[in-house]
Amino acid sequence: MLRAEAEADVAVVGAGAAGLSLAHRLSGHTPGRRAPSVLLLDAPPGPLRPPSRTWCFWERGRGRFDDAVTASWDRLRVRPPAAAPIEDGLAPLRYKMIRSDDFEDLVGRDLAHSPNVRRLQATVETVEDVTGGARVHLRDADGAHRVLHTRWVLDSRPLGSLPAARTTLLQHFHGWFVRTSRPAFDPAVADLMDFRTPQPADGLSFGYVLPTGPCEALVEYTEFSPRTLTADGYEAAVRHYADDILRLGEREVLATETGVIPMTDAPIARQTGASVFRIGAAGGATRPATGYTFAGLQRQTRAVAAALRAGRRPLPPPAHSARSRAMDAVLLRALASGRVDGPALFSRLFARVPMARLLRFLDGDTRLHEDLAIGLRTPVRPMLHSALELPSLPRRPFD
Ligand SMILES: Cc1cc2nc3c(=O)[nH]c(=O)nc-3n(C[C@H](O)[C@H](O)[C@H](O)COP(=O)(O)OP(=O)(O)OC[C@H]3O[C@@H](n4cnc5c(N)ncnc54)[C@H](O)[C@@H]3O)c2cc1C
Repeated sequence: MLRAEAEADVAVVGAGAAGLSLAHRLSGHTPGRRAPSVLLLDAPPGPLRPPSRTWCFWERGRGRFDDAVTASWDRLRVRPPAAAPIEDGLAPLRYKMIRSDDFEDLVGRDLAHSPNVRRLQATVETVEDVTGGARVHLRDADGAHRVLHTRWVLDSRPLGSLPAARTTLLQHFHGWFVRTSRPAFDPAVADLMDFRTPQPADGLSFGYVLPTGPCEALVEYTEFSPRTLTADGYEAAVRHYADDILRLGEREVLATETGVIPMTDAPIARQTGASVFRIGAAGGATRPATGYTFAGLQRQTRAVAAALRAGRRPLPPPAHSARSRAMDAVLLRALASGRVDGPALFSRLFARVPMARLLRFLDGDTRLHEDLAIGLRTPVRPMLHSALELPSLPRRPFD
């Protein structure tokens, strides 16, 4: 018989972007209140730990994690397939890049001095909802089985499989951190979407360039499509982009990054028991039409931390409004059905809507009339067709 130990008020499961952000926000005392005690559980190094990655997002002014930011830009560019580039300022926003290792170091240093957050390396096997709290069944680093009892669990472990959806596309990419022998980049501007890449039969592709200096950048090849490529396929695509489209000349690949972000219109449950909630990508923080997740999970963890500090039930709010998700469902459907030409649609949007407004739109920070105006900048007929078709489509598991 295993003994359930009452270990903490809150168990945060997973120490990725969401788990670390939440623990960081819960760390430290609020004058006049008892801070909740927090146990941050993360899988030991091994297959459950995600590889290092780079997160980009935008925000106004200084942010909570600025000390970990590698680079930031106040201008972005989109390159249509065969027309002049579209470049615009973002003020008052800045586009920021954080490498996950730097983020982990920054948050880790702060948590090491935290009076109320403890860290434990363990593989969480199941989380069980029980009267007045939850039981976390885990295997610790020595392989021993333990059960912890906490009042609340905020779980960020990735979902085992994708939920049934009307439309699921994959945003998948491979990138190189490159150093060129001659200046090849303008560090003042990041290329958000470069549609000069060859387009796949299903979906769309684009290049992405985040310059960190005149001779250094993260250069990526990205697709929004139903299937991932082989390792050779990604390598060939990013090589073609770097060498034949960007013409970087002599260059050295310092490191690589590969990723897959599901873009789905499936509703994702944020509560799985009376005391058990999901946060982060697993809690629906990914914006369906773009794959951006970091900003959404910051909104979620900010609200969860405020609720816990105030002694309230920490139900994470939806990271994206119902209106944003409905508009994204239409766009995903239009792209997946091939009814719209993705590169033309995005190029047109960026040419006609100021960049800062589009970014505010993607954060759900625009008003209804602004959203409608943005909708009218897309090809209205195929978008309407997709919107009308959606309710009659069944939700299917992703295969
Ligand atoms: C390569 C890549 C680049 C991305 N770039 C961007 C970007 O630029 N901008 C953006 O907004 N989004 C980006 N995303 C999407 C999203 O921000 C990331 O996926 C982000 O890491 C999600 O954070 P998370 O905390 O929800 O999940 P994760 O970072 O996946 O964290 C899950 C945590 O759970 C732990 N875990 C798993 N199983 C167990 C277990 N059984 N027991 C205990 N712990 C467990 C893992 O160790 C991990 O720490 C990117 C995704 C990828 C893959």
